[in-house]
Amino acid sequence: MNNADVSMTSVENERQKKNGEDLRELLVTLRESEDRFDQQTRIFNTTLSAIADFIYIFDRQGKFIYSNQPLLDLLGIPLEEIIGKNFFELNYPADLAAKLQQQIQQVVDTKTIVRDETPFTSPTGESGFYEYIFSPVIGADGSVELVAGSTRDVTGRKQIEQTLLDSKEKFQDLANSISQFAWMTDREGWIFWYNKRWFEYTGTTLEEMQGWGWRKVHHPDHIDRVVKKFEQKLITGEEWEDTFPLRSKTGEYRWFLSRALPIKDKTGEIVRWFGTNTDIEDVRLAEEKLKEADRRKDEFLATLAHELRNPLAPIRSGLEIIRHSDYDKTVIAETIEAMERQTNQIVHLVDDLLEISRITQGKIFLKKERINLKNAVEMAVETSRDSITLNGQNLEIELPEKPVYIYGDFTRISQVLLNLLNNAAKYTEPGGKINLSAVINNNNVEIRVRDTGIGIPQDMLSTIFEMFKQVKNTCDQPGNGLGIGLSVVKSLVEMHNGSVEADSAGIGTGSEFTIRLPLSEDNSESLNTNTSAQNNDMQTNDNKKSPQYRILVVDDNADALEMMKFLLSMDNHTVHTACDGATAISIIPEFQPEICILDIGLPVMDGYELARLLREKIPGVLLIALSGWGQDEDRRRSKEAGFNHHLVKPVEIEKLQSIFSALGS
Ligand code: ADP
Repeated sequence: MNNADVSMTSVENERQKKNGEDLRELLVTLRESEDRFDQQTRIFNTTLSAIADFIYIFDRQGKFIYSNQPLLDLLGIPLEEIIGKNFFELNYPADLAAKLQQQIQQVVDTKTIVRDETPFTSPTGESGFYEYIFSPVIGADGSVELVAGSTRDVTGRKQIEQTLLDSKEKFQDLANSISQFAWMTDREGWIFWYNKRWFEYTGTTLEEMQGWGWRKVHHPDHIDRVVKKFEQKLITGEEWEDTFPLRSKTGEYRWFLSRALPIKDKTGEIVRWFGTNTDIEDVRLAEEKLKEADRRKDEFLATLAHELRNPLAPIRSGLEIIRHSDYDKTVIAETIEAMERQTNQIVHLVDDLLEISRITQGKIFLKKERINLKNAVEMAVETSRDSITLNGQNLEIELPEKPVYIYGDFTRISQVLLNLLNNAAKYTEPGGKINLSAVINNNNVEIRVRDTGIGIPQDMLSTIFEMFKQVKNTCDQPGNGLGIGLSVVKSLVEMHNGSVEADSAGIGTGSEFTIRLPLSEDNSESLNTNTSAQNNDMQTNDNKKSPQYRILVVDDNADALEMMKFLLSMDNHTVHTACDGATAISIIPEFQPEICILDIGLPVMDGYELARLLREKIPGVLLIALSGWGQDEDRRRSKEAGFNHHLVKPVEIEKLQSIFSALGS
């Protein structure tokens, strides 16, 4: 080998050595870089696996190229097994896998993020919710190279959301189920919510009503006051309360009681107001009715006092006259006649009161039968004749030629007609005309009582049938009654399935009352109506002279006792008196009364107890209760105690006489 060869070899060696060093260096660098890559991959993997969320990457076909450990743990597979697989190959439910694959494709195609959620059931069987995001990873050429994804378990958040939704729904349900209207405003009073009832009542929408739109449904007479007060409370922060009318969708106004409470945050700042409107229309009406009833009751008591005092005054004067008459027979007879009229007036008033009390308590029972209207009219006319004649009025009766039959209570129908005739007489000037007529109209008979009297104002035509209702100024003369008669008429007519109405062209033009009553189903003449029985009811009893009896009268009112003794003695009865039960019992053995007339309200031993004892001691004795109480219940009790009759004070002597004569026959 020459020198040149030697030097060539050494250069070559040097070069090779250098190459070898370079290669080593390169290898070291490569290894180092590999190590760094490995390290970075490990760091990347460890970091991503430390996150509870699932982190993963797909290629453009939707095949996994990376998954962090939590997802691998969930699927129960190592990383190598997931790589290169899509959802279908990983046993995802088919519909979910299809949806996810389609969404990855969407990211690739549109380069946009997809965000969605899906329910899941955990391996331990609990259900929950995942929220996931698929994001495009854009490559150097601008197209989607990869799709990165992350999935988070949002079960907890969803539960909170659901709870909130539930409580919101519950609140809505509650707000819509209450009978009130409810609403909420912001701190400035701007209403942003109403419950359904508000819209149902007002027929409006939230768009119309929000903010201060509610002013539209307020009454123009009240709105300024309402707004002013509400604004004041918004400033002071005090609870708001007001009452005002609100217009309904049909246009009518009803009154509401309205309240609003300020709702405050933790720092005490008002954040909103919660308000309600409660319908108080019915309560207001009831209150008004109550006030009206109260007012009428006061009026009634005043009228009652007035009406009772009026006949009492001449009775008292009558007594004075008799005392100073030197027993002049003519003077006494005239005075007694006047006193009798006044007493009858009081009895009539008290009867009216008892009657209306029975009607309002539903204690009137009709004895219905087929009756001839003519008989009922005759009965009423007969009874009212006196007052009509006294007033010099002219009464005209016009009935259909053929008999008219109705199915009703004879006494009550007569009473109805009598009340109307009496009113006509009362409210018609002396010499005026009264007309009673009847016509058949379809299946009804229309009975009209017309007069030429003072008339009735138009606005009172329907209300005069209410109890204690009287036309002002027309009824302040004494003896005009208590405002009960027409209410009795209406009740009785309605109990007969009929109706009554009043008509008048106004004050001074006379009045007309029309009663409609259904005709009896068989209105033929052929049927025999028991008119004689009907008439008997109202006919005065025959005045057959009654025999004399031994009578014991018991009353704790000494005057009443003396009067009764006097009246009975005039008919030649033998009368003993006692002012209490014990005295009465002590008299019996010797006196052996055939008749006992007992007051009920006696001291110590009342009339019922005394009656029982008397009945025991003298079984055949006739017991007559004489009481201030005449209700059905009182009659029932006296019957139970053994009384044969129950008479109401003041009793007419004729009534006693008729009982005595019946005893003798
Ligand atoms: P009273 O006559 O006892 O006051 P009513 O109930 O019978 O009570 O009548 C009620 C009111 O109706 C009377 O007070 C009177 O104002 C009015 N009224 C009744 N009938 C007539 C009539 N025929 N003409 C004018 N007003 C009448």
